[in-house]
Amino acid sequence: MAINKQWQLKKRPEGELTPDDFKWVEEPVADLEDGQVLVRQIYLSLDPTNRIWTGEKESYLPPVELGSVMRGGGIGVVELSRNPRFNEGDFVQAQLNWQTHAVVDGRGLSKILVADDTPLTAYHGLFGPIGMTAYFGLMDIGKPKPGETLVVSAAAGAVGSLVGQMGSKEGCRVVGLAGSDEKCRWLTDTLGFDAAINYKTENVTDSLAKHCPDGIDIYFDNVGGEILDAALGLINVGARIPLCGMISQYNASKPQPGPRNMMNILIKRATLKGFIVIDYFSRAKEAHDYLLEGLKAGQLTYRVDIVDGLERAPEAPSLLFSGGNQGKLIVKVDTDWQE
Ligand code: NDP
Repeated sequence: MAINKQWQLKKRPEGELTPDDFKWVEEPVADLEDGQVLVRQIYLSLDPTNRIWTGEKESYLPPVELGSVMRGGGIGVVELSRNPRFNEGDFVQAQLNWQTHAVVDGRGLSKILVADDTPLTAYHGLFGPIGMTAYFGLMDIGKPKPGETLVVSAAAGAVGSLVGQMGSKEGCRVVGLAGSDEKCRWLTDTLGFDAAINYKTENVTDSLAKHCPDGIDIYFDNVGGEILDAALGLINVGARIPLCGMISQYNASKPQPGPRNMMNILIKRATLKGFIVIDYFSRAKEAHDYLLEGLKAGQLTYRVDIVDGLERAPEAPSLLFSGGNQGKLIVKVDTDWQE
């Protein structure tokens, strides 16, 4: 009988998530009932929103309950099936949570048809929720037009790096913000951004003004706080601001002050719109087709940062807040898995 190993949420974090917030539990996998599927997890996604889910406040999903398995999206392979829609050996993507084995009913479980030359990690780094976030945030809300200026924050991260490349593909001038010179070089030299700003060493307002001489038409916000404020100060009439994330505030114990340049939204008749990717899941194929076409045409690339072993999952989310991750952060749960 297989043993499931899992991390349960032990206590609500104060500030950053730390290993002390989790408890390691091992127990036999339950027998399957009709309609259920047993999935062995291969790659688990770690996301900034893990911090939101572990707080006590209701967000777009209920808080993870204390004493239950930590929530997370995963990719795995079906080991046993009592559901006619799934066969042993199928690759699937779903909320598999922080555990080696998940017993799930068919709902929310989607099959991955893995092409020979596509590694499974692409379904975290390019396709799936990350790619959909970049695609729908930019295309539905940002509405890029050739010749416009697009600014993106956390630009060397999973979502941001895709947004910038898509912006170039759509003919925009693209300026990214990232937290190290190495990341900035990757943006300009490898991904083809027009300019990159190291927000930790440069004056963001001055550098944005220098690199956006015609103002900002789209600011794709992944971080909130001071960078949002600086970008708002430079927006053009009719600017669009997809509000994707506010990572600078997730660890705060109290709501943070709003941007000082808020009035520019009024003066410039701009649109600032928040969105959550789960609302777009029914349109997954549209994003997948766009991303696949960009990948094949050499216009889109991605990188993944792999942490080896589920045991190390609780120490890894801090990388997302320090900027220690180099691309999409994932945990290799099945350490024997070979691409
Ligand atoms: P990333 O791979 O971008 O990792 C997070 C990055 O954020 C870090 O690498 C770091 O890069 C940067 N960062 C951390 N703290 C700060 C800060 N205080 N100021 C500026 N930058 C900071 O993660 P994702 O691509 O998964 O997520 C990016 C954003 O998108 C997050 O806010 C996330 O919550 C959001 N998101 C929203 C979704 C939605 O449905 N709306 C879905 C998925 C993600 P650096 O070294 O440059 O500082």
